[in-house]
Amino acid sequence: MSNAMNLTRAQFDEVMVPNYSPAAVIPVRGDGSRVWDQEGREFIDFAGGIAVNCLGHCHPALVDALTTQGQKLWHLSNVMTNEPALELATRLVEGTFADKVYFANSGAEANEAALKLARRYALDKFGAEKDEIIAFNQGFHGRTFFTVSVGGQAAYSDGFGPKPQSITHLPFNDVAALEAAVSDKTCAIMMEPLQGEGGIIPASKEFLQAVRALADKHNALVIFDEVQTGIGRTGHLYAYMDTDIVPDILTSAKALGGGFPIAAMLTTAEIATHLKVGTHGSTYGGNPLACAVGNAVLGVVNTSETLEGVKQREQMIREGLERINAKYQVFSEIRGKGLLLGAVLNDKYQGRSRDFLVASVAEGLMALVAGANVVRFTPSLVIPEQDIAEGLQRFEQAVAKVVAG
Ligand SMILES: *Cc1c(COP(=O)(O)O)cnc(C)c1O
Repeated sequence: MSNAMNLTRAQFDEVMVPNYSPAAVIPVRGDGSRVWDQEGREFIDFAGGIAVNCLGHCHPALVDALTTQGQKLWHLSNVMTNEPALELATRLVEGTFADKVYFANSGAEANEAALKLARRYALDKFGAEKDEIIAFNQGFHGRTFFTVSVGGQAAYSDGFGPKPQSITHLPFNDVAALEAAVSDKTCAIMMEPLQGEGGIIPASKEFLQAVRALADKHNALVIFDEVQTGIGRTGHLYAYMDTDIVPDILTSAKALGGGFPIAAMLTTAEIATHLKVGTHGSTYGGNPLACAVGNAVLGVVNTSETLEGVKQREQMIREGLERINAKYQVFSEIRGKGLLLGAVLNDKYQGRSRDFLVASVAEGLMALVAGANVVRFTPSLVIPEQDIAEGLQRFEQAVAKVVAG
């Protein structure tokens, strides 16, 4: 069928809504951390489908889980529960602070559930006045209208009519601003422990402690958006596990399905009681195919072998990027954690992250940006050493081309 129709990139502009601007190449096949396009050109994948393909492309354990479940049962809706969903919820509860799980299909939906739960909890326990959500500049929480309004880039939420109310944005990592803003009116503080889309910006230890202490003082909930940082990305199952604080609500998506759409909101038993029968829902949430794949993902990722491997791979990539930088002087800093890394462009290359991306694709490397000044790398958590080495070589050639102009 694809041959008969001769599908091309030009057709994107004819038949798709123009909200994306995809690359010129059309990948058709992936295996591990390598991808091939329609012409058979090979790419090394340092992007991982935006931190989603945590086990690369077509990992045998995930293919097996999907095809096995695909022969058994695809969908029921939440009128009935199913075995893969029960198993995945149990794994998430056993592996984290949480007692209860709500399944959704995307990061935005998990965050939407988290925000609605926080509002309902505050309303039930403290009354209608307690409705303020505090969030942070450059934060990203998805594209539904509530989540994009909580996100910290007004450009993404402007132009769609009246916004959801009582949302306050503060500078990230600014303890004094937080102290001044949190009050008994605050219902939740929502944040990424390491801002992803916003530029690979880690929360400081002091800031995290202030978030937890101020939330406790004012009976507000702490919501960690771990959609990008979760599922081993930072070398821990969830990033909160390597901080001194524990959130009240945590959201997970992206890598949870390793490429199959699934998301989860985790919380405590006490908070969960406020999402009573009928208060919220989703047709597909807890879909058996998605949960079967999620179980296979956790089976591989939540092991000391994979999590330790993330730290070793981080080291290799950091060393490679430092080596490239020593030669070409393009970065001011390599930041981030585990396999969520950002190469921050120095003064000379401000605003040019996309140029590095385009040059990388031309050299056979898939990478990402995080804003105009950061080149982002989120490869598979099990990317082979050989692919890291070759990917870095290709990135060096891309850097050389950008520098040569
Ligand atoms: C990607 C992302 C989201 C949105 O997830 P979708 O699946 O695109 O809805 C939300 N929060 C963070 C931190 C993300 O990185």
